[in-house]
Amino acid sequence: MYCDAHLHLVDLDDREPGFAAQIGDLSWCGAVDSHDPAEFLRSEDLRKQLPPTLQGFGIHPQNPDMANADFLVTLIREKRISFIGEAGFDFFGDTPLTTRSAPAIATQTEAFLFQCRIAAAAQLPLVLHIRKATDVLMQHWRQLVAVPRVVLHCWPGRLEEAQTLLSKGIEAWFSFGTPLLRGSPHALESLRGLPPDRILAETDAPWQPPHGQPWTRLQDIVRIVHHMAAVLEIPEAELEERLTSNFIDVYGEPASRPLPEKEQSHGIY
Ligand SMILES: [Zn+2]
Repeated sequence: MYCDAHLHLVDLDDREPGFAAQIGDLSWCGAVDSHDPAEFLRSEDLRKQLPPTLQGFGIHPQNPDMANADFLVTLIREKRISFIGEAGFDFFGDTPLTTRSAPAIATQTEAFLFQCRIAAAAQLPLVLHIRKATDVLMQHWRQLVAVPRVVLHCWPGRLEEAQTLLSKGIEAWFSFGTPLLRGSPHALESLRGLPPDRILAETDAPWQPPHGQPWTRLQDIVRIVHHMAAVLEIPEAELEERLTSNFIDVYGEPASRPLPEKEQSHGIY
Protein backbone atom coordinates (compact mmCIF):
# COMPACT_ATOMS: atom_id res chain seq x y z
CA MET A 1 0.00 0.00 0.00
CA TYR A 2 1.17 3.54 -0.75
CA CYS A 3 0.89 5.68 2.40
CA ASP A 4 0.97 9.44 1.83
CA ALA A 5 2.01 11.09 5.11
CA HIS A 6 0.86 14.58 4.08
CA LEU A 7 -1.60 16.07 1.57
CA HIS A 8 -4.40 18.63 1.22
CA LEU A 9 -7.66 17.39 -0.30
CA VAL A 10 -9.45 20.75 -0.69
CA ASP A 11 -6.52 22.49 -2.38
CA LEU A 12 -6.18 19.45 -4.66
CA ASP A 13 -9.90 19.45 -5.52
CA ASP A 14 -9.69 23.18 -6.37
CA ARG A 15 -7.07 22.38 -9.03
CA GLU A 16 -8.25 18.94 -10.10
CA PRO A 17 -12.00 18.59 -9.50
CA GLY A 18 -13.00 14.94 -9.28
CA PHE A 19 -9.43 13.84 -8.49
CA ALA A 20 -10.77 11.17 -6.14
CA ALA A 21 -12.27 9.26 -9.07
CA GLN A 22 -8.83 9.04 -10.71
CA ILE A 23 -7.35 6.92 -7.96
CA GLY A 24 -8.66 3.71 -9.60
CA ASP A 25 -7.42 0.54 -7.94
CA LEU A 26 -4.27 2.12 -6.47
CA SER A 27 -3.76 0.71 -2.98
CA TRP A 28 -3.48 3.97 -1.08
CA CYS A 29 -4.06 5.76 2.19
CA GLY A 30 -3.26 9.29 3.32
CA ALA A 31 -3.05 11.73 6.22
CA VAL A 32 -4.92 14.87 5.18
CA ASP A 33 -4.53 18.33 6.72
CA SER A 34 -6.92 21.25 7.06
CA HIS A 35 -6.53 24.71 8.54
CA ASP A 36 -9.88 26.42 8.95
CA PRO A 37 -13.42 25.21 9.73
CA ALA A 38 -14.69 25.51 6.14
CA GLU A 39 -11.71 23.58 4.77
CA PHE A 40 -12.15 20.91 7.46
CA LEU A 41 -15.80 20.30 6.49
CA ARG A 42 -15.03 20.14 2.75
CA SER A 43 -12.12 17.83 3.45
CA GLU A 44 -14.46 15.53 5.40
CA ASP A 45 -16.76 15.35 2.36
CA LEU A 46 -13.88 14.59 0.00
CA ARG A 47 -12.64 11.82 2.30
CA LYS A 48 -15.91 9.96 1.71
CA GLN A 49 -14.92 9.51 -1.96
CA LEU A 50 -11.52 8.02 -1.12
CA PRO A 51 -10.02 4.87 0.37
CA PRO A 52 -9.18 5.11 4.10
CA THR A 53 -7.66 8.38 5.28
CA LEU A 54 -6.82 10.13 8.53
CA GLN A 55 -7.84 13.73 9.09
CA GLY A 56 -5.90 16.43 10.93
CA PHE A 57 -6.43 20.07 11.75
CA GLY A 58 -3.81 22.66 12.63
CA ILE A 59 -2.94 26.34 12.84
CA HIS A 60 -0.54 26.81 9.92
CA PRO A 61 2.51 29.07 10.39
CA GLN A 62 1.71 30.91 7.14
CA ASN A 63 -1.56 32.02 8.76
CA PRO A 64 -1.08 31.59 12.51
CA ASP A 65 -4.64 32.63 13.35
CA MET A 66 -5.38 31.74 16.96
CA ALA A 67 -9.07 32.38 16.25
CA ASN A 68 -9.14 28.72 15.12
CA ALA A 69 -7.77 27.46 18.44
CA ASP A 70 -11.23 26.80 19.90
CA PHE A 71 -12.27 24.87 16.79
CA LEU A 72 -9.15 22.72 17.09
CA VAL A 73 -9.86 22.01 20.76
CA THR A 74 -13.47 21.08 19.93
CA LEU A 75 -12.36 18.66 17.19
CA ILE A 76 -10.02 16.98 19.67
CA ARG A 77 -12.71 16.78 22.36
CA GLU A 78 -15.16 15.24 19.88
CA LYS A 79 -12.46 12.84 18.61
CA ARG A 80 -12.94 14.05 15.06
CA ILE A 81 -9.24 14.29 14.19
CA SER A 82 -6.35 11.82 14.38
CA PHE A 83 -3.52 14.36 14.50
CA ILE A 84 -2.73 18.05 14.85
CA GLY A 85 -1.18 19.80 11.88
CA GLU A 86 0.24 21.29 10.12
CA ALA A 87 1.86 23.57 12.68
CA GLY A 88 5.42 24.91 12.75
CA PHE A 89 7.52 27.80 11.54
CA ASP A 90 7.85 29.46 8.12
CA PHE A 91 10.23 32.34 7.48
CA PHE A 92 10.41 32.04 3.72
CA GLY A 93 9.67 35.77 3.55
CA ASP A 94 7.05 35.90 0.81
CA THR A 95 4.42 37.54 3.06
CA PRO A 96 4.62 39.82 6.12
CA LEU A 97 3.56 36.90 8.33
CA THR A 98 6.49 34.79 7.09
CA THR A 99 9.11 37.55 7.13
CA ARG A 100 11.64 36.98 9.88
CA SER A 101 10.74 39.82 12.22
CA ALA A 102 10.15 39.96 15.97
CA PRO A 103 6.33 40.16 15.62
CA ALA A 104 6.19 37.30 13.10
CA ILE A 105 8.42 35.12 15.28
CA ALA A 106 6.25 35.90 18.33
CA THR A 107 2.99 35.12 16.51
CA GLN A 108 4.23 31.86 15.00
CA THR A 109 5.80 30.81 18.31
CA GLU A 110 2.52 31.32 20.19
CA ALA A 111 0.63 29.07 17.73
CA PHE A 112 3.45 26.48 17.74
CA LEU A 113 3.70 26.25 21.54
CA PHE A 114 -0.09 26.07 21.92
CA GLN A 115 -0.23 23.13 19.52
CA CYS A 116 2.71 21.37 21.22
CA ARG A 117 0.87 21.64 24.55
CA ILE A 118 -2.42 20.28 23.29
CA ALA A 119 -0.74 17.50 21.27
CA ALA A 120 0.99 16.42 24.49
CA ALA A 121 -2.19 16.72 26.57
CA ALA A 122 -4.36 14.87 24.02
CA GLN A 123 -1.55 12.42 23.14
CA LEU A 124 -1.99 13.10 19.43
CA PRO A 125 0.69 13.22 16.72
CA LEU A 126 1.86 16.68 15.65
CA VAL A 127 2.73 17.38 11.99
CA LEU A 128 5.27 20.18 11.52
CA HIS A 129 5.91 22.46 8.54
CA ILE A 130 9.39 24.00 8.74
CA ARG A 131 10.60 26.38 6.01
CA LYS A 132 13.73 28.52 6.43
CA ALA A 133 13.22 27.94 10.13
CA THR A 134 15.17 24.87 11.24
CA ASP A 135 17.17 27.03 13.67
CA VAL A 136 13.97 28.30 15.33
CA LEU A 137 12.61 24.76 15.59
CA MET A 138 15.83 23.62 17.27
CA GLN A 139 15.38 26.34 19.94
CA HIS A 140 12.08 24.72 20.93
CA TRP A 141 13.14 21.07 21.03
CA ARG A 142 12.19 20.74 24.72
CA GLN A 143 8.52 21.35 23.92
CA LEU A 144 8.55 18.45 21.46
CA VAL A 145 9.79 15.86 23.95
CA ALA A 146 6.31 15.67 25.53
CA VAL A 147 4.56 15.21 22.16
CA PRO A 148 3.97 11.48 21.57
CA ARG A 149 4.83 11.51 17.84
CA VAL A 150 6.19 14.34 15.67
CA VAL A 151 6.19 14.31 11.84
CA LEU A 152 8.59 16.69 10.12
CA HIS A 153 6.73 17.01 6.85
CA CYS A 154 8.94 17.63 3.80
CA TRP A 155 11.97 17.61 6.11
CA PRO A 156 14.19 20.46 4.86
CA GLY A 157 17.05 20.13 7.36
CA ARG A 158 20.40 18.43 7.44
CA LEU A 159 20.87 14.82 8.57
CA GLU A 160 22.79 16.10 11.60
CA GLU A 161 19.82 18.23 12.68
CA ALA A 162 17.45 15.26 12.31
CA GLN A 163 19.80 13.12 14.38
CA THR A 164 20.00 15.84 17.04
CA LEU A 165 16.21 15.87 17.38
CA LEU A 166 16.18 12.07 17.82
CA SER A 167 19.06 12.20 20.30
CA LYS A 168 17.08 14.64 22.48
CA GLY A 169 14.45 11.94 22.95
CA ILE A 170 11.93 13.39 20.48
CA GLU A 171 9.78 10.70 18.84
CA ALA A 172 10.27 12.18 15.37
CA TRP A 173 9.62 10.86 11.87
CA PHE A 174 10.96 12.60 8.76
CA SER A 175 8.81 12.74 5.65
CA PHE A 176 10.17 13.06 2.10
CA GLY A 177 8.43 14.24 -1.05
CA THR A 178 9.03 15.94 -4.38
CA PRO A 179 12.32 17.71 -3.39
CA LEU A 180 13.87 14.24 -3.67
CA LEU A 181 12.85 14.11 -7.34
CA ARG A 182 14.76 17.37 -7.83
CA GLY A 183 17.83 15.87 -6.16
CA SER A 184 17.72 18.06 -3.05
CA PRO A 185 21.06 17.39 -1.30
CA HIS A 186 19.57 17.79 2.21
CA ALA A 187 16.72 15.40 1.48
CA LEU A 188 19.06 12.80 -0.06
CA GLU A 189 21.52 13.05 2.83
CA SER A 190 18.76 12.73 5.46
CA LEU A 191 16.95 9.88 3.70
CA ARG A 192 20.17 7.87 3.34
CA GLY A 193 21.34 8.49 6.90
CA LEU A 194 18.20 8.18 9.02
CA PRO A 195 17.07 4.91 10.64
CA PRO A 196 14.61 3.14 8.26
CA ASP A 197 11.89 3.15 10.94
CA ARG A 198 11.92 6.97 11.04
CA ILE A 199 11.13 7.77 7.39
CA LEU A 200 7.83 8.53 5.64
CA ALA A 201 6.76 9.44 2.08
CA GLU A 202 4.44 12.27 1.10
CA THR A 203 3.17 14.24 -1.88
CA ASP A 204 2.04 17.45 -0.08
CA ALA A 205 -0.44 17.47 -2.99
CA PRO A 206 -1.18 19.83 -4.64
CA TRP A 207 1.80 21.85 -3.40
CA GLN A 208 5.47 21.48 -4.39
CA PRO A 209 4.86 20.18 -7.95
CA PRO A 210 7.57 18.16 -9.70
CA HIS A 211 9.20 19.81 -12.74
CA GLY A 212 6.79 20.09 -15.65
CA GLN A 213 3.60 19.67 -13.62
CA PRO A 214 1.28 22.50 -12.54
CA TRP A 215 0.56 20.78 -9.20
CA THR A 216 1.39 17.60 -7.33
CA ARG A 217 -1.15 14.82 -7.89
CA LEU A 218 -2.20 12.20 -5.39
CA GLN A 219 -0.77 9.51 -7.71
CA ASP A 220 2.72 11.07 -7.51
CA ILE A 221 3.26 9.10 -4.30
CA VAL A 222 4.13 6.14 -6.56
CA ARG A 223 6.98 8.09 -8.23
CA ILE A 224 8.23 9.33 -4.90
CA VAL A 225 8.35 5.86 -3.30
CA HIS A 226 9.98 4.46 -6.46
CA HIS A 227 12.66 7.17 -6.26
CA MET A 228 13.19 6.60 -2.52
CA ALA A 229 13.76 2.88 -3.13
CA ALA A 230 16.36 3.71 -5.78
CA VAL A 231 18.15 6.15 -3.45
CA LEU A 232 18.14 3.60 -0.62
CA GLU A 233 19.07 0.77 -2.99
CA ILE A 234 16.40 -1.56 -1.60
CA PRO A 235 13.52 -3.37 -3.35
CA GLU A 236 10.47 -1.16 -3.77
CA ALA A 237 8.14 -3.74 -2.16
CA GLU A 238 10.32 -3.83 0.94
CA LEU A 239 10.27 -0.02 1.21
CA GLU A 240 6.51 0.11 0.66
CA GLU A 241 6.03 -2.32 3.54
CA ARG A 242 8.37 -0.33 5.76
CA LEU A 243 6.63 2.97 4.95
CA THR A 244 3.21 1.45 5.66
CA SER A 245 4.40 0.18 9.01
CA ASN A 246 5.95 3.58 9.87
CA PHE A 247 2.76 5.40 8.78
CA ILE A 248 0.64 3.21 11.09
CA ASP A 249 3.15 3.66 13.95
CA VAL A 250 2.69 7.44 13.64
CA TYR A 251 -0.97 7.94 12.76
CA GLY A 252 -2.68 4.64 13.63
CA GLU A 253 -4.87 2.58 11.31
CA PRO A 254 -6.91 4.72 8.89
CA ALA A 255 -10.69 4.59 9.27
CA SER A 256 -12.49 3.26 6.20
CA ARG A 257 -14.82 6.28 6.13
CA PRO A 258 -15.50 9.30 8.34
CA LEU A 259 -17.68 7.98 11.13
CA PRO A 260 -21.10 9.40 11.94
CA GLU A 261 -20.89 11.66 14.98
CA LYS A 262 -22.46 9.25 17.48
CA GLU A 263 -19.86 6.58 16.66
CA GLN A 264 -16.91 8.89 16.81
CA SER A 265 -16.00 8.10 20.38
CA HIS A 266 -15.09 4.54 19.37
CA GLY A 267 -11.98 3.51 17.51
CA ILE A 268 -9.60 5.58 15.50
CA TYR A 269 -11.02 8.31 13.37
ZN1 LIG B 1 1.29 20.80 3.33
